[in-house]
Amino acid sequence: MSKPLKILFLASEADPFVKVGGLGDVAGSLPYALRALRSEKLDVRLVLPFHSTIRGEGLTLNRETVFTLPRGSGEVPAQVFRTDIKGLPVYLISGAPVTGSLKVYDPNPNADGEKYTFFSMAALEMARRLDWRPNIVHANDWHTAAAIYKVRREQEDPFWAGVKTVFSVHNLGYMGAEAENALLDYGLPPIAEPFYPEWACRQPLPQALWAADEIVAVSPSYAQEIQTPEYGYGLETFLQTRRETVIGIVNGIDYSLWDPFHDDALEKNFSADDLAARSANKAAMLSQFGLTQNPQAPLLAMITRMDYQKGVDIALGALRKITDLPWQAVLLGTGNAELEAQARRLEADFPNRVAAAIRFDAKLSRQIYASADMLLMPSRYEPCGLAQMIAMRYGAIPVARATGGLRDTIADGRTGFLFADSSHNVMAATLRRAIAAYGHRGNWDDMQRTAMFEDFSWEKSAFQYADLYHRLVD
Ligand code: ADP
Repeated sequence: MSKPLKILFLASEADPFVKVGGLGDVAGSLPYALRALRSEKLDVRLVLPFHSTIRGEGLTLNRETVFTLPRGSGEVPAQVFRTDIKGLPVYLISGAPVTGSLKVYDPNPNADGEKYTFFSMAALEMARRLDWRPNIVHANDWHTAAAIYKVRREQEDPFWAGVKTVFSVHNLGYMGAEAENALLDYGLPPIAEPFYPEWACRQPLPQALWAADEIVAVSPSYAQEIQTPEYGYGLETFLQTRRETVIGIVNGIDYSLWDPFHDDALEKNFSADDLAARSANKAAMLSQFGLTQNPQAPLLAMITRMDYQKGVDIALGALRKITDLPWQAVLLGTGNAELEAQARRLEADFPNRVAAAIRFDAKLSRQIYASADMLLMPSRYEPCGLAQMIAMRYGAIPVARATGGLRDTIADGRTGFLFADSSHNVMAATLRRAIAAYGHRGNWDDMQRTAMFEDFSWEKSAFQYADLYHRLVD
């Protein structure tokens, strides 16, 4: 019998230890989904920083090893703890650069650069100390990118020789400029890459794109888009030279965590076979926010980081253009102060129609997915996007910009509504189309059922990652 492939999976966040955004969902699900593929025999192990926000209580922690990492002319001590969750070994790495930082993504850029460079180096050194030689090192986004570059540089070392690397790009926009100095301190010099601008040679994400054996963008459309000037941030020319090694694999959602039939947060559970039960959730949502009960008016929702990437301004502008139509809206999000203010202004101008909840609220997000008729996602760019998949699973029809993962997961007119341009006029026209469709109840119910029956489970994506691992090692 062949031995299982060993995969060292590095991430800055993973649910349920710590979740800030979509990466936390991915790193909290994909390693399990990979281990669950019995036919593939993958010994995946997750490594996370032991962030100060991770509470040790309730976890069975074993101290695995302690060591020091060379840094400049000195050394930094690191400690590694292990806990096993549902059969997945999880290593938590501690040390001054991690414990000294109060947030997962530190507002002080230097602290963040130091923390994640330390973490990336320590995760590799841990494998050596534990004599657990991976076949593949799989890193995600800039925070763990330095590990990919390091493995490439250590190919003369018998421990790392022949170890393959996979780098997943969840968001090309964050390159890790804050880590430039730390990379030098931990012994990682700039690369020499003629297809890169000079700044890129010194930053961890571009270094990993250069060094990785395979680059995975989190949707096929995003894999194409990052090779164009519009989305490539100046790295598109280089990425075109690597087009053979850039693939797209869409993320999944964890169907046991996102299930309207078993979700405790809801007023009433429901399934695609019993959509009538869903309306109790909408009624509860409207009364929770003091909005009038009006079944003729579709409830439109946003659940998002308040960021220009997400096109919050586009959606708010579009809603102001269609006030001649019946609709109500619930906006849940936090982030950019100007966008938060714009959301509050819309609520103030249309108090009978609009409710804005400016906060992060996981329970409320579930209730909104279960009660909204439509979820608005006019993203300027969207590498994959999870919210539209959760929305479809809960019967909320996405109205989204045709970009990245939104284009790959939503079928216009069948499971949602797509539009091409980042403009509130174009979005307003699409909302008119969607609201007209909502008026034909029988067809709308069919559309909801079709969306709910789509398969966004992790299994499909996990098989694609497993294929990739085997291909690299063979
Ligand atoms: P991104 O990772 O770019 O923020 P995704 O769509 O991939 O976007 O994932 C966002 C995740 O965060 C979803 O699970 C969504 O429900 C959740 N989320 C975003 N904003 C909020 C909020 N204000 N309250 C609760 N959950 C939120």
